[in-house]
Amino acid sequence: MKFTYKAYRELIALLQEYGYTICDYHNYAQADKSVILRHDIDLEIEKAVKMAEIEHDIGVSSTYFVLVSSNFFNVFSKRNQAYLKEICDMGHAVGLHFDEVKYDAGKTDLVQAMEQEAALLEQCLGHEVRSLSMHRPSQTTLEADYKVAGGRIVNSYGTEFFHRHKYVSDSRRHWREDVIGIIKSGEYDRLHVLTHPFWYDEEEQSASAGFKRFCVSRAVQCYDDLNDNVRDLQEFMRKDDLWQTLDK
Ligand SMILES: [Zn+2]
Repeated sequence: MKFTYKAYRELIALLQEYGYTICDYHNYAQADKSVILRHDIDLEIEKAVKMAEIEHDIGVSSTYFVLVSSNFFNVFSKRNQAYLKEICDMGHAVGLHFDEVKYDAGKTDLVQAMEQEAALLEQCLGHEVRSLSMHRPSQTTLEADYKVAGGRIVNSYGTEFFHRHKYVSDSRRHWREDVIGIIKSGEYDRLHVLTHPFWYDEEEQSASAGFKRFCVSRAVQCYDDLNDNVRDLQEFMRKDDLWQTLDK
């Protein structure tokens, strides 16, 4: 499968053609044959908004998991809060993406940390958070079947969604299993599909091109944000100077 919006649309169409109902973490049991569409936002909320628009356009909804402890974006910034609201307003769910690496292994109560981060995200979104996923989970976390907030917040890496569902993912821009073949096989009534919006675009881009585009777009964004915060920034640095600096 290509990493394009067209291919993603075709994936959804194929799921529907093969009788899958697009569900979420809370209502899947009502369908005989269900698929949960999940996206992790690791680097760039903008790409998630684009994916959310595509799904909205097709008439399906999914769950977007967002980090609240990322070095790459601040969910509380005005811009990012607006993006997350846009995703919610299109009918999608936003859940917590949790990075355990941030915490001292063995010294932190991870479930408590998840609950604290979920509460922060709830503040940011202005409504309840009902699901979470892990960012690069350790083996211990994969096996832990954590119950978060007494089960109110669904753990997408819990036994139900990680073992009783057929789980497929495009992590590191690589489908470890043939997702198309899995859908067509008819072997699975419960599918759980993780895609990372970062990798998708109108035209397919290599991982290398995707990372370069991201770094450059961040530098430009940094300049624009500086411009919003520093009066007469041009006296110190013009936007064109950025390219010479990046060239070095
Ligand atoms: Zn992640």
